[in-house]
Amino acid sequence: MGTRELERETTSFDPKTWVDLKPVSAPVEDAPAEAVKSTRPKPILFAAPAALVLAAGGAYFLWPSGEAEPTPVPAATPLADAPTQASPSPSTSVRIVQVRGVDDLGFSLEAMGVATGDAFTMAEEAIAALGTQEQMRVAVELEDGGGGRTVRTISAELPNGTTVKLTRQSDGTFKRENVLDAATTQVRSVTGTINQNTFYASAVEAGLPDSLTTPFAKAFSFDFDFQREVAIGDTFSATWEETVTESGRNTVPPKLLYVRLNTAKGSKTYYAFTPPDETVQRWFDESGQGNERGLMRTPVDGARITSKYGYRTHPISRVQRKHNGVDFAAPTGTPIYASGDATVAFAAPRGAAGNFIRLDHGEGMQTWYMHLNAFAEGLVVGKPVTQGEIIGYVGTTGGSTGPHLHYEIRINGEPLDPLTFETSEVEALAGEALTMFTTQRDSTKAAIDQGN
Ligand SMILES: [Zn+2]
Repeated sequence: MGTRELERETTSFDPKTWVDLKPVSAPVEDAPAEAVKSTRPKPILFAAPAALVLAAGGAYFLWPSGEAEPTPVPAATPLADAPTQASPSPSTSVRIVQVRGVDDLGFSLEAMGVATGDAFTMAEEAIAALGTQEQMRVAVELEDGGGGRTVRTISAELPNGTTVKLTRQSDGTFKRENVLDAATTQVRSVTGTINQNTFYASAVEAGLPDSLTTPFAKAFSFDFDFQREVAIGDTFSATWEETVTESGRNTVPPKLLYVRLNTAKGSKTYYAFTPPDETVQRWFDESGQGNERGLMRTPVDGARITSKYGYRTHPISRVQRKHNGVDFAAPTGTPIYASGDATVAFAAPRGAAGNFIRLDHGEGMQTWYMHLNAFAEGLVVGKPVTQGEIIGYVGTTGGSTGPHLHYEIRINGEPLDPLTFETSEVEALAGEALTMFTTQRDSTKAAIDQGN
């Protein structure tokens, strides 16, 4: 493909639409779209990453159910001319783009190789048939025939969530039909070993959807200090439910049912359950005891904590004074949680502490969070926060040599060791709630066994 054609194709799409083309579950730090945004000095350079983003997004949209990590479909990139493996016949191929309105679709079709005049006529007919000028994701099935490249079908996911398919008629108009996107729910399990620097990397490698890594780590945030008590060689298991539609798109985010973590310190197993009269799913062990405690041992997204021995972030303060808390090394931007229900007592930059939050938990108890990159939006002194709520993001402000959270627990101003500090457990399930839990736990177990 020549440079001119490459330029034409790359400029025929609205780059904004590509930036949006990523799996909804992609973590912010790793989102290729962010890389595209920040590294697009020239259209030529933009082309390669954009193609990757488009391929990944397209595959996510079209790929059949059953794979947590869909393989990008080569022909979904605007730069590939070869027919896709998934195409119905050798002379057809499928391209996926985000478009808004007639012009957008017309330019897109043109870029796909449809003759200019035809491209815009078809775009006009198609948008009329779809009945919306809003941005949407469309899969265009192209056909190469004697008269050149033309459109066979256009499948679109409308802003209201329905998927429709337009089939081109001999008179040039499109016949519209709603695609019955039957959803099936499946239970999937994964077991893995922490063999990389973070739980996140290990879990994703093992096949856990990346949107589930944070909820997984959070389930154990009361039991384990992810910096010191979770290490390379530890093993984990997870079972989750996912709803997959015929188009391959997850209609609802996957949901964890079961989590297990085995470390040198011990093993913990939890089952998800929503107690009667509650609306939010919580974690309970085999016997119906909840995972929650008064304070979290890991008040930061544990999935991203660097699991590495000997990490030191405070060489200066170690020399100068006693280290009053624990340090959690995690990438800048990693969410920090309120370790317990509290009121914000302080949230501002303060000298060596950098961006600093103090939470007041009542009865003289406070938790301190230092070196933040940023505070959560709307976090002001006096605001009540609930346990597990995001209050800020890891950074390296103040007297810090690398991104980490410095965390302290204080009672009447005196620092305690967060590693040994034991806080109260919440009440265990009992009565009818326990009976319901036991039934659900057993059905989760049966689903896990069935998958093995
Ligand atoms: Zn520290």
